[in-house]
Amino acid sequence: MQRDFPDNASRHQQRLLLGPGPSNPYPEVMEAMVRPVVGHLDPAFLAVLDETSERLRRAFRTCNALTLPVSGTGSAGMEACFVNLLEPGDTAVIGANGVFGARMCEVARRCGAEVVRVEEDWGRPLDPAALLEAQRAHPGARIVATVHAETSTGVRNDIEPLSVLQETDTLLLVDAVTSLGGIPLDVDAWGIDACYSGTQKCLGVPPGLAPLTFSERAVERVSSRDTPPQSWYLDMGLIGSYVGAERRYHHTAPISMVYALHAGLGVLLEEGLEVSWERHASVGAELHAALSDRGFTLLAQDGNRLPQLTSVSLPDGLDEAGLRRRLLHDFDIEVGAGLGDFAGRAWRIGLMGHSARRSSIVALLGALDALLS
Ligand SMILES: *Cc1c(COP(=O)(O)O)cnc(C)c1O
Repeated sequence: MQRDFPDNASRHQQRLLLGPGPSNPYPEVMEAMVRPVVGHLDPAFLAVLDETSERLRRAFRTCNALTLPVSGTGSAGMEACFVNLLEPGDTAVIGANGVFGARMCEVARRCGAEVVRVEEDWGRPLDPAALLEAQRAHPGARIVATVHAETSTGVRNDIEPLSVLQETDTLLLVDAVTSLGGIPLDVDAWGIDACYSGTQKCLGVPPGLAPLTFSERAVERVSSRDTPPQSWYLDMGLIGSYVGAERRYHHTAPISMVYALHAGLGVLLEEGLEVSWERHASVGAELHAALSDRGFTLLAQDGNRLPQLTSVSLPDGLDEAGLRRRLLHDFDIEVGAGLGDFAGRAWRIGLMGHSARRSSIVALLGALDALLS
């Protein structure tokens, strides 16, 4: 008989995941994933789906009726927002200070939009005033879009000052893939019209769903489109009629992933959002200090550093790829390589969800000290 997994795969089930995601899922989440699969129209499943949406509202801090997990990873959430809110010829103002802001520009371009790109150097936060100024220069812009937690650089972009967009006809779209559950996010208070996240970062759930929420303004924008969204799969009108009261079949919900997200949100809300933010903040600060002590250079600007994702350049003379390989092979610890401008000279260290605990730091620093001595 063939074994289910080759030897080297089964041996590595207990990795400590300290990269930019996936993070280690909460044990409760993995237990939920082995629940029996039921049908996507089974009342027992629909009750779990409804409760998942309700938990998402609490996590996003919103009353938005259209709040649901999109099938697919965080990128599906990004795509769902852009294809539903933009039509060919529309103008979109987009902040870009890292890989994910740049990706938003590309997705908007593929929707046929004219992109007004507001740039900032890698490692520095976007200036909200620059985004608002771009919107004033293009008052017909349909959206202003920005990434809350730029996972490629470890920078937090300030969202709250953009709430004044509510006084305009321009919608505010925010990527909260790495921020939801990890740092303060307040969808309604900050006037966010469309927000998406991912399961495998600070929610402590495997990759596979993209939590999403649309304000009433965003829902109106979708229903008043001249043309249907070019993606049938991510059409929020059609998906909304399955998740909503009509329960009309659109596509098969990923049952086990919904159970997993339901359980992960249960862990988060039982801990308490603020307590989770505080836990991420304290382990992040501890890691920042410990790495600085060891001669690493933090790449994100002080004051806007993410606790859940630390980007650092290594002390001179260290081979980043070789060290990263040894951390993985000798110590079962994964850290991430630098992306884009930071490739080849930096690491990205995640402390997200279940991985955001002191024991992760102790293990990482112990391994690093052993490798560097
Ligand atoms: C990880 C990430 C994404 C993409 O999510 P996937 O799950 O990889 O599709 C988008 N935006 C940000 C900020 C991310 O960190």
